[in-house]
Amino acid sequence: MEHPVREWIRPEIQALSAYHVPDPGDWIKLDAMENPYHWPEPLQQEWLESVRKVEINRYPDPAARDLTTQLRQIMDVPEGHGVVLGNGSDELIQMLLLAVAEPGRTVMAPEPSFVMYSMISRFVGMDFIGIPLDQEFELDLEAMVVAIERQQPAVIFLAYPNNPTGNLFDRAAIEKIIQIAPGFVVVDEAYHVFAEESFMGQLPRHENLLVMRTVSKMGLAGLRLGLMAGERRCVDEINKVRLPYNINVLTQHAATFILQHAEVLNEQAASLRQSREELLEQLQGIPGVVKVYPSRANFILFRIAPGSAGALFEGLKMRGVLIKNMDPAGGALTDCLRVTVGSPEENRQFIEALLTATASVL
Ligand SMILES: *Cc1c(COP(=O)(O)O)cnc(C)c1O
Repeated sequence: MEHPVREWIRPEIQALSAYHVPDPGDWIKLDAMENPYHWPEPLQQEWLESVRKVEINRYPDPAARDLTTQLRQIMDVPEGHGVVLGNGSDELIQMLLLAVAEPGRTVMAPEPSFVMYSMISRFVGMDFIGIPLDQEFELDLEAMVVAIERQQPAVIFLAYPNNPTGNLFDRAAIEKIIQIAPGFVVVDEAYHVFAEESFMGQLPRHENLLVMRTVSKMGLAGLRLGLMAGERRCVDEINKVRLPYNINVLTQHAATFILQHAEVLNEQAASLRQSREELLEQLQGIPGVVKVYPSRANFILFRIAPGSAGALFEGLKMRGVLIKNMDPAGGALTDCLRVTVGSPEENRQFIEALLTATASVL
């Protein structure tokens, strides 16, 4: 008998490598765009006290009504528009693609961009088409227009700002893509608190536009909570493939609690935006750093001397600092590393480790 994997697991799944997440360990962890800050002690106490009331023996409110109301307000969802919540925005990507998947249909996104767009496309049996960004990681509008007309993609994903490059694509180019796209255009605003630019206000103008947000990069990555907003009928359909209790009681409770104190998260974001500018400047002064890409997110992509990414990445790890080596992705990301903006102390330690690592590697 054939091994069950060979006989039954779809070939395109067998061909994938599992999404690799390194063990947390004792690193200064600057690889995953996490917020380094926790809440002030009195707020933590208040939260712990409030958790007593959570009825963990009951199923959660399937529509997460209180939380949805609060998120609509905080995220400026225009009146009359639909909202669906996901277990992180990853699950929202999956819901949308499950709702549109059909053999022969395609998903499109610029490349490099967030890897989940192509991975989830494959999970649901759709073809993924990546359109290369230009030299400065800006949208190649001409190539996008041609590809959209030829391929008629069911969904186009645009991360705004883009991960892993950190830049905000040109607004007019995005507008044009939304106008000519035959299917949905998802503007993924995972880094909204750092970019402070949005397409949320454009929703009333475009039926095919969906705007995605997450609380992960706001400092709540452990909760797994994302939101997709769009024209009501479209969102109602996407909502049909959602599993009934996808937002658990603890997530609903914790998010509702902390969003009542949104100023705490806002202050943290402001401080990270400030640290990002400092880190950008410091990186520019380091020998062996060839180029630092401007960023509107909470991470910075930088290019180093050709062929040294692997050694530098390992050198940083040896010194206790974990960042992300983008070089294995190849293409435009060859020789690139990505660092998440941490606390001032973490950033200081990263710069110090980078200085010694570059001195020994280069
Ligand atoms: C981090 C990230 C997400 C993932 O968000 P979750 O809500 O944690 O699933 C989505 N999109 C982009 C572009 C990201 O960088």
